[in-house]
Order: sequence, then structure tokens, then C-alpha cells
Amino acid sequence: MAVAGCGPAGLAAALLLARDGHRVTIVERFAAPAPIGSGLMIQPTGLAVLRSLGLDGALIARSARIDRLSGQAGGRTVLDVAYATLGQAGLCGFGVHRATLFSVLHDAVTAAGIPVETGRTIAGSEPVAAGGRRLVFADGTRSAPFDLIVDALGTRTPLAPPCGRALHYGALWANLDAVPGFAGDALEQRYRRASMMAGVLPIGRPPGAAADQVAFFWSIRADRVAAWRQAGLAAWRDEVQALWPATAPLLEQIVDPDCLTFARYAHRTLSRPAGAAMIHIGDAWHSASPQLGQGANMALLDAYALAKGLREADGVAAGLAAAVALRRRHVRLYQALTALFTPVYQSDSRTLPFVRDRLVGPLSGTWPANRIQAAMVSGLIGSPLRPLALA
Ligand SMILES: Cc1cc2nc3c(=O)[nH]c(=O)nc-3n(C[C@H](O)[C@H](O)[C@H](O)COP(=O)(O)OP(=O)(O)OC[C@H]3O[C@@H](n4cnc5c(N)ncnc54)[C@H](O)[C@@H]3O)c2cc1C
Repeated sequence: MAVAGCGPAGLAAALLLARDGHRVTIVERFAAPAPIGSGLMIQPTGLAVLRSLGLDGALIARSARIDRLSGQAGGRTVLDVAYATLGQAGLCGFGVHRATLFSVLHDAVTAAGIPVETGRTIAGSEPVAAGGRRLVFADGTRSAPFDLIVDALGTRTPLAPPCGRALHYGALWANLDAVPGFAGDALEQRYRRASMMAGVLPIGRPPGAAADQVAFFWSIRADRVAAWRQAGLAAWRDEVQALWPATAPLLEQIVDPDCLTFARYAHRTLSRPAGAAMIHIGDAWHSASPQLGQGANMALLDAYALAKGLREADGVAAGLAAAVALRRRHVRLYQALTALFTPVYQSDSRTLPFVRDRLVGPLSGTWPANRIQAAMVSGLIGSPLRPLALA
């Protein structure tokens, strides 16, 4: 089997498939596999998959436990989500640097002896007459045939037809040394309407770092990034500090626009995530803005479902159908929820943030809104772990 892509979905799928006795090769475009981006949150859903691989301890040791998500607009609390409201002992999220999640999974792939072919940019695939499928590379060469290709190439996969839409808003991200003045156990955000948002997420101590870090993000429209860059950092720092004065010592660490990486988001969901000798998992199947913080977790759940589907079904085609069936409902639910909530926090609308700040916000800390929000953020709405028989 070939696993295309060395992100969370590909690495987890390779580990789970190899553990079931499949012969797996990972194919990746990077010369040296490396994670892109800043911080992310591992939810109880993603952690359950890591636990099944025996990797939860390694991740937890290098991440920051997150018990709450809080958001303020104009001095009002408009988001107040605590995992504890779900009443399950120990339930929480973990803020991690992407490199931490990557290295935990990649180290396990190396230890399991799974081969990783690097420096191979995939351009497409083609079916093989005798059954199976081969990869077609950007340099025109072709791979040997595989029984199954697992597409874990992320949201811009060349192995699936384009679909969905790019969102107008994205965010500038940076990893910075943690400073006093922020909760060590919370994702904190500040908003002005839905067009301005800053966030600080503790991410523990990434590989190679001497101190604990936070991921800082600043929401920005994609068509304003060039103007932001040209305007220089001073004006931008004043804007951020006016919104959130406590960020001053974080902003001092940003000495150059290149300290910030712009990530643009897209909402897309493949209607047919599996075909002949091919399945699309993770962002290759479905991607969304990180507003609900589920992408990496959904990728891990997809990988787990794939291994379970293949293990329990008779043959590859039946296994792929079973894997899709195990995940489809949860994927649809969270794609819809993310599409619904993203404009409340990232858009040019004036009505949505007005309703958020004056009507929904005040309810955020009270029952049942607090429980619904906690279940949504933890990824547990729709009970995704039950069909996978994951605790
Ligand atoms: C700024 C930002 C913040 C986020 N925050 C969160 C969060 O808090 N929680 C959360 O769960 N998720 C979050 N996400 C989403 C999460 O990062 C993704 O959902 C997750 O990385 C998807 O994993 P994946 O393995 O499917 O794809 P990817 O991580 O995109 O991995 C794809 C891999 O395929 C390789 N590849 C791509 N194209 C080719 C090619 N043509 N040939 C060969 N190799 C190729 C890439 O190099 C990469 O290694 C965030 C995303 C962004 C952008």
C-alpha cells in the first residue's frame, strides 16, 4: 500500500496499517519530512487515536494542557468554554506545536521501519489493468502498482478533483516564547466585530525549543496581506495592542513580517472519498477553517477508521466503503458546524458579531450553551468514537 503524504493523516494511517500487517510505503514531496505551520489543538478525539498507538504520553509531555477557551469583545466575555462542563474526569485539549505532533508520529514511523520516499512530488494516479493503482510523479515517472493508495496529501491534493472554495479570511501565525499575562491553560481570543481577531494558544515546548511557547495568530483577509506587509510592523503592532494591550511583550518578539506565516483556509468536502484502489483521508477528504480546531483530529480519526474498515471487511473495496461509513456522519456534521460558525468570527458581517456579542455571548457560560459548546470544541458531537470502538 502507498500512503501519499507525511502529515498527521498519512503518518497515523501508515502506523495503523503497518500494525495490522500491511506492507506500507509513505511518499512525500519534501526532501526531509517536516511540518508546516504553527500551533494546533489536539482534542479528546485525536488523543484517543494517539492513545491507541501508544503515543499519547509522548505528545502530552511536550504540549500544554488546555482546560478553557475564552473570548472577549470590547471588554465583554463572548466565549467561555470549559471542558469540565462535560463532567468527564480529565477531559481537556492539548495545545501543541505542529512539529511536536509531527515528531511524535514520525519517530514512531521510523521505529516501525516504515519506508518514507522523500523528494517525490505526486501529480496524479492511474488505475492498473490487473487491479490496483500507481502514482504518477511531477517528473513524469510512475511508481510500481499498489493494492491501495491512501491520499493524505492535504487540502490541495492532486489525487482528487478540485472542489469547495477558498475563504476570504486566513490568519498570520507565529510561534513565540511564552510571556506572563496569559492563562497557561486556555486558548484566549480578542475580537472586534468579526473582522479583527487575535489569539494566543499555549503550545508547550516544541522540539529544540529552550522555553515554553505560544502560538499567536491574527486574522486577516487574504487580499490585505500584501498591504499589511507594505505598511510595516509599527502600525500593525499599534492596532494589535489597541485591541489587546497584554500582547505587547509578544509583539516585541516579532521583528520582521517574515516572523509571521500567512495561512489561508478553504472549505471543501469530497462527495466520493473512496474509489477504485484509492481513499482520501484527512484534509484531502475534507478541510475547513481551524475555527473549531478539528482538522488534525479528524485526520487521525479517518486514519483509524481506514485501518478498522480494512481489518474487518472482506477485501479492499469493502474495507474502503466501511471506513467511509464509519466517518461520514461526523465529517458532515463538523463541516457544517465549521461553515456555520466561521463567519461569526471571521467575516465582514456586522450583524453576526452583534448577535454574538449581545445575545449568544452572555449565554456562553450558562447551561445548556456551555455544554453544547464544550462538546462541539472537543469534537465529541455526533459520538465519533463510538463506531470506532475507541474509548
Ligand atoms: C493555521 C492553521 C491552524 C490550524 N489549527 C488546527 C487546530 O487547532 N486543530 C486541528 O485539529 N487542526 C488545525 N488545523 C488543521 C490541520 O492542520 C489540518 O487539518 C491537518 O494538518 C490535516 O492533516 P493531513 O495529514 O490531512 O494534511 P497535511 O497536514 O496538509 O499533510 C499533507 C502532507 O502531504 C504532503 N504533500 C502535499 N502535496 C504533495 C504532493 N503533490 N506530493 C507529495 N507530497 C505532498 C505535504 O508536504 C504534507 O506533508 C489548522 C490548520 C491551519 C492552516
